[in-house]
Amino acid sequence: MHDIVLIPGDGIGPEITRSVTKILEKAGAEINWIECEAGEETYNKSGTPLPDKTLDAIKKHRIALKGPLATPVGSGFRSVNVSLRQEFNLYSNIRPAKSLPNIESPFQNVDIVTFRENTQGLYIGKEQWAKEGEHAESIAVVTREASRKIITAAFEYAKSHNRKKVTLVHKANILKLTTGLFLEVGREVAKSYPDIEFEDLIVDNMAMQMVLRPQQFDIIVTTNLFGDILSDLASGLVGGLGVTGAANIGDDAAIFEAVHGSAPDIAGKNLANPTALLFSAMMMLDYLGEKTVMNRILSALYRVLQDQKYVCTPDIGGSGNTATYTEAICAALDF
Ligand code: NAD
Repeated sequence: MHDIVLIPGDGIGPEITRSVTKILEKAGAEINWIECEAGEETYNKSGTPLPDKTLDAIKKHRIALKGPLATPVGSGFRSVNVSLRQEFNLYSNIRPAKSLPNIESPFQNVDIVTFRENTQGLYIGKEQWAKEGEHAESIAVVTREASRKIITAAFEYAKSHNRKKVTLVHKANILKLTTGLFLEVGREVAKSYPDIEFEDLIVDNMAMQMVLRPQQFDIIVTTNLFGDILSDLASGLVGGLGVTGAANIGDDAAIFEAVHGSAPDIAGKNLANPTALLFSAMMMLDYLGEKTVMNRILSALYRVLQDQKYVCTPDIGGSGNTATYTEAICAALDF
């Protein structure tokens, strides 16, 4: 039995977590969920978006499945997602994007996993005014140690998942120190994995290549901001954020989450698509070594998308709702 912290989150979060926990239970996953609160609603109730009780539960159990959390734009409390990544040093943000049956997209046979460095780069938000209101500056941080960790994680994943190639993305022609260091470490780490092909591409060329011929890419590893953008681009190639999962993994903790937001426009209407969170939960099962259960769920999901698209939620072209989609996946698990 695995003890896992469950954070339903805001908006559609409770609906999609209910759907996902139901599917996992039906599939035979042996999980004891420890339900905890976080997000905007929690902030409105208790004055903090990330209560100590939730933090303590993650510290104790080290693994969490998290629904989307609303973050106020511009002002208000700091993003809980960013706080969690820093608190638990979740340096690997892993985002698979794979073409799915019957999901509309001009691109076929895409199968990319993006490894985004999750704790450094421009994304740390270290900004200052050189002259108030006139001249703003931002600092990017890249260390040898953090680069080595994320690049090694990408190669180790490639090795354990039988993948063939790692593409490191950088802008070392211009940002010679920061992304230059990332590239230098990549070339060093690659030497320890002679069976895995290694290449590096400049980020602007990468963006074009991903749209021209995405099938040439397998594993991508890159710095925080480039990874933020390219992993969304990769999701877009296979149907968007509603159908792609994500994991944030460190040395001794992991948080699995949907990357889409809390969708306040459809919250409570039984229209939320649980697929993204279900993929995140499947990544969690992979992390836990529960590959048989993971593969059962994957087959059931593929069968429903292939043969019963009409039961799916409207965002992916179905005429059903969260409940009909969830029931169909549960029923498909029996076959
Ligand atoms: P959003 O992803 O919530 O919604 C964008 C559009 O996609 C909406 O039309 C919504 O209905 C639709 N959508 C999103 N997920 C869906 C799903 N599972 N099924 C069906 N339709 C879905 O983005 P937003 O409106 O920009 O953000 C709303 C809130 O979510 C903000 O407070 C933002 O900070 C937060 N947010 C959280 C996360 C996270 O926790 N990982 C990520 C992004 C945004």
